[in-house]
Amino acid sequence: MCFNIFSLLLFNLIKKRLESCVCEKKVVTLRGELDICSFGDSKDIVIMARKVLLIFTGGTISMVRDAQTGALHPADLQTFKAFVPELFAGDVQVEMIPFEPLLDSSDLNPDNWRMMAHMVQDNYDAYDGFVILHGTDTMAYSASALSFMFENLCKPVVFTGSQLPVGVLRSDAKENLLTAIEIAAAYDADNHAIVPEVALYMDGELYRGNRATKRNAEHFSAFNSYNYPALAKAGVHITYNRPLIQPMGNIARPLHVFERFDTRVAILKLFPGITEEVVAAVLDVPNLRGVVLETFGAGNAPSHEWLYQRLHTAVERGVVIVNKTQCNTGSVTMGQYAVSLNLMKAGVISGYDITTEALLTKMMHVLGEHGDDMDKVKQLLSVSLCGEQTIVK
Ligand code: ASP
Repeated sequence: MCFNIFSLLLFNLIKKRLESCVCEKKVVTLRGELDICSFGDSKDIVIMARKVLLIFTGGTISMVRDAQTGALHPADLQTFKAFVPELFAGDVQVEMIPFEPLLDSSDLNPDNWRMMAHMVQDNYDAYDGFVILHGTDTMAYSASALSFMFENLCKPVVFTGSQLPVGVLRSDAKENLLTAIEIAAAYDADNHAIVPEVALYMDGELYRGNRATKRNAEHFSAFNSYNYPALAKAGVHITYNRPLIQPMGNIARPLHVFERFDTRVAILKLFPGITEEVVAAVLDVPNLRGVVLETFGAGNAPSHEWLYQRLHTAVERGVVIVNKTQCNTGSVTMGQYAVSLNLMKAGVISGYDITTEALLTKMMHVLGEHGDDMDKVKQLLSVSLCGEQTIVK
C-alpha cells in the first residue's frame, strides 16, 4: 500500500516535470542534449531506455598495445570493454557483435559490406540504432555502400573509428564511440530516430556516410564532407541540422537489403601527359562494366582525338563512364569548357559533386542490381538515390 502511494506520487511528479517541458520541436533524447529543443530545466529526463548494437569490424579503434612487445594488435571483446567501461554505465543499453577475425579496413570488400548490412537487418527489430566500428581507411567506401544497400531504413546506422587505438592514452576512440552511440540512440518524442540514415561520426562532426571522404592520415579530424554540410556537430551538446537529414524510409515496410555488387569497375585518373596506352590498358580490360573517370576542374579532359575515340568505343561496347572531378569541392559541369565537349559526345555522364567513394560503390550497386538494363544503369547514375549527389541542371 505504502509502495503504491509512493509510486503514484513519483508518477505524478514525473508527469508534471514532463508537462512542464517546453519543447517546441518535441525532441526528447536520453540526456536531453538536443539544442534544437528547449527543455527548460529538465535536461536530464530519460524517457525511455534505448538499445544500440555495436558491430565491431576492426580497424585501429579495436587495437591495444601488447605490454611485452609494444606492438598493436586487435583486442578481444573483453579487453576492449575493459578500456571503455563507460559503454555500459550510461542510459543506453549497448550490445556488441564482432567480425571474426577483426579486420583492417584495407582488407574489406563487398562480401564484408553484405555482412555488415545483414548484421543490421538480422537485428533490426531488437535495437533502436546501430554503430559500426570500422577502420578509417576505407570507412567512406563502406558507409557509401551501405547507404545504397538499405531500403526503408528508419533507424540510425553510424560508422565510427579512431586515429589512435583504444588502448593508447591520448586515443580519440572513446569520444568517437560514445558520441556515435548517443547519436544512434537519439529519438524524438514521436519515437522517430533523429538520424534515420547511414552516417559517419568522427571528431565532433556527423556526416552523411556517402558524402564523407578520408582527408587526413594524421589528425583526429580524419574526414570531411566537402559538398554537403555536417548533419550534426558535437560539442558540449549535440546540435542536429535536421532539415539536412534524410527523411526516414517507409516505416510500414520491412528493411530491405540490396546485396548485389558488380566489381568489374575501374577508376581512371587523368593527368597531364597521360598516354593512349595507359587509357587503353584500363578501358580494354575484358568484361569491364563501369569506369569512374577522374577529370580536371569542372569535368575537363585533354582534347586528344584518341581519347575521344577510346571513350566512345568503350561506351559503345556497353561500359558506363561517369565523370568525377579531381577537385574535392564543387561539381562537374560538362559543356562549360570546350575541353569537356568531347566527353559529352563520347557518352560520358556527369557525376556532379559525388565523391569517388560514393560513385564507385554506387556504380557497383546499380550494375549489380540492373546490369542487364544499361539504360536503367545510366538513369540511376544520373540521379541522387540517397542524397549522395547534388544534381545541377
Ligand atoms: N589501417 C586502419 C584501418 O583502416 C586505420 C584506421 O583504422 O584508422 O583499418
